[in-house]
Amino acid sequence: MENQLQQLCKWLKESSHTVILTGAGMSTESGLPDFRSNQGLWHGRDPQEIASIDAIYQRRQDFVDFYRWRIKEIENHQPNEGHEIITTLQRQGYIQHILTQNVDGFHQQAKSFHVVELHGTLREVYCMDCGLSLSSERYLEDRGEICSQCQGFLRPKIVLFGEMLPEEAINKAFKEVQDAELIIVLGSSLQVSPVNMLPLEAKHNEARFVIINLEETYLDNQADMVIHGKIGDTLRQVQKLL
Ligand code: NAD
Ligand code: ZN
Repeated sequence: MENQLQQLCKWLKESSHTVILTGAGMSTESGLPDFRSNQGLWHGRDPQEIASIDAIYQRRQDFVDFYRWRIKEIENHQPNEGHEIITTLQRQGYIQHILTQNVDGFHQQAKSFHVVELHGTLREVYCMDCGLSLSSERYLEDRGEICSQCQGFLRPKIVLFGEMLPEEAINKAFKEVQDAELIIVLGSSLQVSPVNMLPLEAKHNEARFVIINLEETYLDNQADMVIHGKIGDTLRQVQKLL
């Protein structure tokens, strides 16, 4: 592990364009569950079933209750040490861009910059009829899911299962990884496409590819280095060694 971390520090120093890609595991140390541990936590239901466009039409009350719960969870938690270390490394010039699948806004709250939110944000909701956009606090109010302008349905500004990713974000992400010399994936099982194509695209362009995750991921066999550990601990050690 120590040797791996020293190697990673060397790569960080050598790279003039480092991109990090984060997933739900980035925020578990803040107390937010990832999808895996989430299962059974929410009324014993599979979040993937509720986090879908179908649920808006077929199980609207479940959909609204689920997102009210998730919005409250985000409001009640804070970025963790891992987010803070990433901001510091960014200020020191070791990291150039952050691509995230997370919708919690914690990288921005931790004052990171150049953050691309690939799956949108839970910090805002918008009307499916007139497009009115509001802060998600509004969703927590009584009848908060109804648009005050047109009585349409307000939904979170996130990518649901069965939806395309925001074009601008995914294009920007591909551009960043094409220029990358090092890509580090933190806390993602890399099961969700097209995001899991990003590290492969980087590698294809000769970037080094590092995974930091508690468990095995779908792309471990493609990576130049896999560190099985907690993000907070790992980054703290990296920061010390740099
Ligand atoms: P995932 O749940 O599929 O995978 C998370 C991975 O992180 C797991 O492999 C787990 O072992 C690892 N992990 C958990 N805690 C860790 C820690 N402290 N250190 C290192 N590794 C840790 O999540 P995903 O790959 O991001 O993809 C699933 C979807 O989940 C995404 O679409 C994302 O939008 C959504 N999601 C987001 C949030 C959030 O915004 N915080 C929360 C839950 C789900
Ligand atoms: Zn409206």
